[in-house]
Amino acid sequence: MKWSESISIKQIALAFVTGLLVLVSLIGGFAAYQTRAVTRNLEQHNREAAQSELASGIERLLAQTGDLANNLAHWDETRQQLVAPEYYTYWRDQRVYESGVLNSRFARAALYTRAGTLLAPSPEKSGLPSKLPAGLPLQQGASWLSNQAGSIALYHAFPVYGDERRQALLGHGLIRVDFMPALLRQAKFQFTDAPSVKLALEPGETLAASQLFSRLSFSARPDPDQLRFQTILSRTLLALFVLLVSAALLGFVAYNRLLIRPLGRLTQDIDAMQHGRFNHNPARSQPMRISELENIRRSLHDYQLQLRELHGSLEHQNREFHSQARQDALTGCHNRRAYEEDWEDFRRQLQAAPQGVAFLLFDCDRFKTINDTYGHAKGDRVLTIVADALVMALRANDRLYRLGGDEFATFLSHTTPAHAKQIAQRCQSLLEASVFSDLGISEPVGISIGIAFCTADQLAHIDELPKQADIAMYTAKQPGRNRIALYGEDTERAAQALVASRETSALFQALATPGMVELHYQPIHGLPGRKVAYYEALARIRYNGELIMPGAFLPVVSSRRLETEFDLAVLHQVDADLSSQQIPPGSGVSINLSAQSISRPEIVSHLLELSRHGTRHPLMLEITETSLITQMIEVRTYLDLLHTVNYRIAMDDFGTGYSPLRYLVDLPVDVVKFDISLVNKLGQDNRAGQVVADFARMMKDAGYALVAEGVETETVLQKVESLGFAHVQGYLLGRPAPLSQLAGQPNVAGMAAPSAPLDEDGSVFA
Ligand code: C2E
Ligand code: CA
Ligand code: CA
Repeated sequence: MKWSESISIKQIALAFVTGLLVLVSLIGGFAAYQTRAVTRNLEQHNREAAQSELASGIERLLAQTGDLANNLAHWDETRQQLVAPEYYTYWRDQRVYESGVLNSRFARAALYTRAGTLLAPSPEKSGLPSKLPAGLPLQQGASWLSNQAGSIALYHAFPVYGDERRQALLGHGLIRVDFMPALLRQAKFQFTDAPSVKLALEPGETLAASQLFSRLSFSARPDPDQLRFQTILSRTLLALFVLLVSAALLGFVAYNRLLIRPLGRLTQDIDAMQHGRFNHNPARSQPMRISELENIRRSLHDYQLQLRELHGSLEHQNREFHSQARQDALTGCHNRRAYEEDWEDFRRQLQAAPQGVAFLLFDCDRFKTINDTYGHAKGDRVLTIVADALVMALRANDRLYRLGGDEFATFLSHTTPAHAKQIAQRCQSLLEASVFSDLGISEPVGISIGIAFCTADQLAHIDELPKQADIAMYTAKQPGRNRIALYGEDTERAAQALVASRETSALFQALATPGMVELHYQPIHGLPGRKVAYYEALARIRYNGELIMPGAFLPVVSSRRLETEFDLAVLHQVDADLSSQQIPPGSGVSINLSAQSISRPEIVSHLLELSRHGTRHPLMLEITETSLITQMIEVRTYLDLLHTVNYRIAMDDFGTGYSPLRYLVDLPVDVVKFDISLVNKLGQDNRAGQVVADFARMMKDAGYALVAEGVETETVLQKVESLGFAHVQGYLLGRPAPLSQLAGQPNVAGMAAPSAPLDEDGSVFA
């Protein structure tokens, strides 16, 4: 193991226990070694003691034998035997013992002549030689040992003199002692093991007493105290060893139970928490025995509870944030962000499971008008009702997304074009059934739906679907359509779609490039007399040498909410045209404005500036009745202001909107332009024609100057004239023409001074 690696607490404990065991073994070994040394020392000492014990025993034995010999040599009866050995055998066998000269039955005595011959033969097995060995220093007395038939005996030969001066040698005496019994009788040996004492002497061999010690073998008797000490010591050591080993093992077990395992549990808990697993495991919450660990466990437990709580609330918040982030605050359906995420997911899922897919785009019809008319609060309510109706109409698993403003979308899986259309129709019917009258909105609120579809084989082009649905939507919004359109259903719509994208780029370029918005002027003739009274300025965009007509680019203007920008571009061009002097002096100019623009200060200030042309060219503003108007009071104020600088106010496309009378009552309108659809009815000799005629008369009587739009036939013109229309506009009398073609045309009728109340006959045009 490298040192840089960390080691576990268990490994430390194991190392500690192992170390302890090794140490205990070492100490045990050392103690055993020391004990052995001491024992050896003691044995040596014992042996030496035994040796000296034996030596002194032998010495004493020899000395005693010497004493006996001395006693015998100086005893009269001994001398007498040597001189007159009549009762020698009696003396030898009885007398020496009775007299106490020989004190032991182990000892025997015999007498020899001066020549060393035994006085009388000794009994068999007495072990006494018949002749003294030659060569011994008999004058001083000699001692030797001899092994006679397995029995070792100590002999001591000595001279016996007749006088004290040791002049007259009478003969010799010999004492024989059984060596071993005699030696052992010398003393009670303490250190010598008596039975072990042996003398190495071959049978028949003789040994001088002086060499006795060298042939002696013995063993020392072990010291019982020492033995006891040794036993006690080794037992103590063993007990100590066992104690230490079991202490170490017990210690390890306790350490493991009390510290290592609890610590392991804590570590696991912390690990689990780190990995966000807060599942409470009851087995793990057992209290720990060590107070510090228990404190840690409790803190950890509390901490874990807090974390779990925090985690829970964070998760909840997260979900909340996520759903809020994906939810449209107003309608409660999914928002654009959810749409983008889900669309990505949906495309990915389709790769795994190809199927027919439809993309549906919903757009409220004339929502802007509703919003402007009834205010934003009600507009918002309308959107909510629309969203609810759409969600109800969709299948349970389909999601509705609000892409912005009044635009919604959904994508349908497992579908066919017919089925998608069916769902679209259901959306429209449910919306038709929705009630808006509670909001004070009397007119129906409709939606147009653009559908794009692709089969399972065409999924490679799935990215095209939103764009195609947008194009289909454009088709659906066209007047006279049934407000549901499927992309690519016929070539005409596809062609329109192509145009639509061309228009978009044309429009943006035109807004950025002065002069690209071109105005054509259509004459409006006074009645009776049919002379040109003024011109209506009609916008076109010149793009790559082609003229793009309002019907093509105005939907882009409104869908992109570019009304103000576009109207500003038109006002610039009107200013330029008026300044160019190509418009016949005295003839008026009528300018179309989006309803939105009238409440825009930049438009109003531009109009005020434009009014400087008013002396040369009377000016009129045409505001479409269908697109009026949110802030009535504000608009009214602006229109009043514009009145004061001699603008005429015309209500355009009268008869196509919902509540013309309301506008007529509330706004300072001078001129009412009957829409082509109404004017055409005048040409019919039927009830509708009659109604329109009556209506026209009524309006005229109310003081409005009436203009008939789109007059294409003489019949209609005469009818209009007979009804008292002040002006007429249409292809019959003149088509819109570029500015260059106006020059030189005489102004016959001219535009009268503004403000209806000033004209007695109710006409603003003379
Ligand atoms: P509008 O204001 O009702 O203009 C009259 C439209 O009827 C013009 O179409 C004109 O060419 C057409 N017209 C005139 N006489 C006849 C006729 O006898 N028969 C038929 N069938 N049509 C006739 P244009 O120029 O295509 O304009 C369409 C609409 O675009 C205008 O309807 C107006 O609402 C809008 N518009 C045109 N120029 C402007 C502009 O400068 N600003 C704004 N905001 N809107 C404009
Ligand atoms: Ca107009
Ligand atoms: Ca019109």
